[in-house]
Amino acid sequence: MDQKLATLLEDTRRRQGPVVVLTGAGISAESGIPTFRGEEGYWVVGSRNYMPQEMATHSMFEQAPDEVWRWYLYRFGVCRDAQPNAGHAALVRLERALGDRFTLVTQNIDGLHRRAGSQRVYCIHGDAAWVRCAAECGVGLLDLPRFPPRTRDQPLTAEDRRQLTCPRCGGWLRPHVLWFDEYYDEEHYRLESALRAARGADLLLVVGTSGATNLPMQIGELVYMRGAALVDVNPEENPFAELAERSPRGHFARGSACERLPEIVAALGAEG
Ligand code: NAD
Repeated sequence: MDQKLATLLEDTRRRQGPVVVLTGAGISAESGIPTFRGEEGYWVVGSRNYMPQEMATHSMFEQAPDEVWRWYLYRFGVCRDAQPNAGHAALVRLERALGDRFTLVTQNIDGLHRRAGSQRVYCIHGDAAWVRCAAECGVGLLDLPRFPPRTRDQPLTAEDRRQLTCPRCGGWLRPHVLWFDEYYDEEHYRLESALRAARGADLLLVVGTSGATNLPMQIGELVYMRGAALVDVNPEENPFAELAERSPRGHFARGSACERLPEIVAALGAEG
């Protein structure tokens, strides 16, 4: 490990302060779940290609709920078939070592942190395990019904539509995920809890996020302004890496989550 990173982690370990880990799609890439970049991200409706930023919106759901659900049911199937990797496992060890000094804030909806064994997790973009009423009729969170494996272009059947109908009001159920044209809140997405954790952090460890969304970037900037330690794990340059490189207590640990996290959590005191 780079000497500067080793010194930074040793210093953080001695201070025994709160540690916040912020993860994005990159930590699940080595589990086979595509990030939103690259070809896997595109979705074809009729003769047009859509980007995830267009599919994952409330306005698209209002126009074409069948298409939005078709996209999600395919993606949720990919998440369900994936297994947690060495990066997820390393964060479970870190949580066990730090106890209530540990908070995990994830943008991922794939449930892999939970399935790996992480408990102190804020899912700031929701979780694919649940659905809720699209009209907010008050039915609360329901388990995502179990659907058989699907191909990318499989249209919804009448049975799929029945399973995606709210049992209380008869309208559409929607995925319990934050869409690109919606706002963070505490009730569904733990906005205040995540910001509170960031305000108290002595170290922010960022893993596999491009910083394209609002709250994660706000968390990074808040930690940077407070002068807390900031480590970014990512194979590519990104805005968190820039922040980490500008920070006197920062480091850009270039590499994949599975390559870098085991040594980083070990240096923070988690047993191998
Ligand atoms: P992003 O797709 O914008 O960026 C992914 C980042 O991960 C990139 O910076 C990339 O360089 C990095 N990366 C790629 N492979 C990596 C690896 N092996 N180890 C570490 N880093 C790696 O993802 P984002 O910043 O999370 O934002 C995209 C949005 O899409 C979020 O809102 C998220 O909720 C959603 N999303 C979630 C999933 C999931 O649940 N697994 C997957 C795709 C997108």
